[in-house]
Amino acid sequence: MKVELDLSRGAGSPAVTALPSLAGMSLAALKAEVEAMGVDPKKANMRAKQLRRWIHHFGVQDFADMTDVAKELRAQLAEKYVLARPDVSDHQVSRDGTQKWLTRFGPGVEGESVYIPGVGKAGALCVSSQVGCTLNCTFCHTGTQKLVRNLTAQEIVAQVLIARDQLAEWPSSNEDRLLTNIVFMGMGEPLYNLDNVAEAIDTISDGDGISIGRRRITVSTAGVAPKIPELGARTGAMLAISLHATHDDLRNELVPINRKYNLKELFDAIRAYPDLGNSKRVTFEYVMLKGVNDTLAEARDLVRLLKGVPAKINLIPFNPWPGSPYECSDWETIEAFAEVVNRAGYASPIRTPRGRDILAACGQLRSESVKKSAAERRREAEAAGD
Ligand code: SAH
Repeated sequence: MKVELDLSRGAGSPAVTALPSLAGMSLAALKAEVEAMGVDPKKANMRAKQLRRWIHHFGVQDFADMTDVAKELRAQLAEKYVLARPDVSDHQVSRDGTQKWLTRFGPGVEGESVYIPGVGKAGALCVSSQVGCTLNCTFCHTGTQKLVRNLTAQEIVAQVLIARDQLAEWPSSNEDRLLTNIVFMGMGEPLYNLDNVAEAIDTISDGDGISIGRRRITVSTAGVAPKIPELGARTGAMLAISLHATHDDLRNELVPINRKYNLKELFDAIRAYPDLGNSKRVTFEYVMLKGVNDTLAEARDLVRLLKGVPAKINLIPFNPWPGSPYECSDWETIEAFAEVVNRAGYASPIRTPRGRDILAACGQLRSESVKKSAAERRREAEAAGD
């Protein structure tokens, strides 16, 4: 194969990004790289910590800025590595301040992240853990796309770096941040990529780096029951469950993974999540689908189902996407549903749709990486009994 290098394009060109990037690497991975460069093993740990601070606390993108690293080592690093982020192929800003990035992790591997101001302490970044998804939830746009692949820990962290660059939030400071929370509610099922998600959470929460605390990181799952307690033990993150139905029959249809792990198994796993209590509640997401799951009887069933679980309920108005088979419940219906849940003592904020004008709202994320064919979608719909 003939490889031609185009050296005329400067930073970000294929010639430059062909070198591996250290941005987003865990401390252990940085140490391994430093050792592979032949740095004295006794000093490798210290060097890796210096790099972590420059890369993830100060956000530098040029080795020359690493003033306490010996000049010679800086030069060696610059020969072998870059500090670049993956390419952003599209960046959109909504009228309401929501921002969406489509990041290109490789040829045909594109994933989305969304920054939502006013969520969490100041603002939350919704990150993707996979490109595409295997779950096929019927109301979710990502479900119309095949799984392309799991994202690596470094690629998950890179989504945070890209948002921080855009928000100009370097160095990491503890006051007046715009980006205070991370939610794994983008594309993919995080618990089908738990090793990488856990490593990414270690890097994101590292106090000498990006420094977003574990209690400000929420991982949302459609219900991979056997992995739920493990998620808590390994990451200390907050748990969110995409519930959407209170009975197995309907949940089998909307969230097909329920056929594998039903509500009983799901709730046994949730109850085993470590450290649940008043200050660590499980968030239950419930998307409001007109005439499908929005009766007051279901609101009462929801309250019964959550008995004994420290919980918050997030009612999500359904966000339509081109060709979606559902409508959003009427506003009065959502309010009446919320009222039943509130009266039972649960906080149940109705999630205001954000970024609708740029298709950045919940469940609207879908890159053009790999679409399912119409025939595949028809077969799946038939198999699901539609
Ligand atoms: N696979 C994980 C992570 C994705 S989270 C999970 O299922 O939890 C995405 C959240 O948005 C989930 O709660 C999902 O159910 C919700 N969602 C998906 N499509 C939606 C849509 N069209 N409108 C509103 N919410 C949606």
